[in-house]
Amino acid sequence: MRQTLIAGNWKMNKTPDEGVDFINELKANFPETDAEVLITPTAVGIQPMQVAAKGSDIQIGAQNSHFENSGAFTGEISPETLSAMGVPYVIIGHSERREIFHETDEDVNKKAKAILDHGMTPIICVGESLETREEGKDQEWVAGQVKAALKDLSSEDAAKVVIAYEPIWAIGTGKTASADDAEKMIAHIRDILFEAVGEEASQAIRILYGGSVKPANVAELLEKENIDGALVGGASLEVDSYIGLLTGG
Ligand code: 13P
Repeated sequence: MRQTLIAGNWKMNKTPDEGVDFINELKANFPETDAEVLITPTAVGIQPMQVAAKGSDIQIGAQNSHFENSGAFTGEISPETLSAMGVPYVIIGHSERREIFHETDEDVNKKAKAILDHGMTPIICVGESLETREEGKDQEWVAGQVKAALKDLSSEDAAKVVIAYEPIWAIGTGKTASADDAEKMIAHIRDILFEAVGEEASQAIRILYGGSVKPANVAELLEKENIDGALVGGASLEVDSYIGLLTGG
């Protein structure tokens, strides 16, 4: 049984103090939920928000990691550091990182390995552009990204990762993929995983949907057989709305 994961990707939003206020308010109003609760703030928000979240079921993750443990990489954060801080999840390969910061499939693969080596879970983002979808090459594109990200991982390691399918045309646009379209691609990803890492790992890996998820549409997405959670940007920034994601409306 795959546990639902509701991950808030805050991107470059909120100061550490605002993050702490959010956690305090969420703790005070924490709803009944079977889902795993995760917020990924900017790197400087992680530590103070972990302190605020202590004693609750709220987990604080990271939005990126380098693959090396130390060295001359100005501005980067190592997996060793994140692991030492007690970070459970690290998002990698987000389309914004790929497009704006030129993160390649090879980087994503190195990062996935480094994060797993440090006992953390990578949330590997994949997804096609509108152009690729209109050309009818979306399934092929996403399959390529998934296989590249998991290259040379053992089935045992692969079973631990989380994949997030985020069609680029649905991110921050208000256009969600329909629940049927999201399920179709996510079922395809599970077929690719079956081929790449075997049946057991393909059934264990959680696959999230991301792209304009909000309280009003989360329930119909989560009802789908293969959709195991959501990676949410805008609608994770306000406490009421984040609670709505956990309670399905
Ligand atoms: P939105 O939920 O704002 O569309 O962002 C999705 C996303 O990129 C999460 O990683």
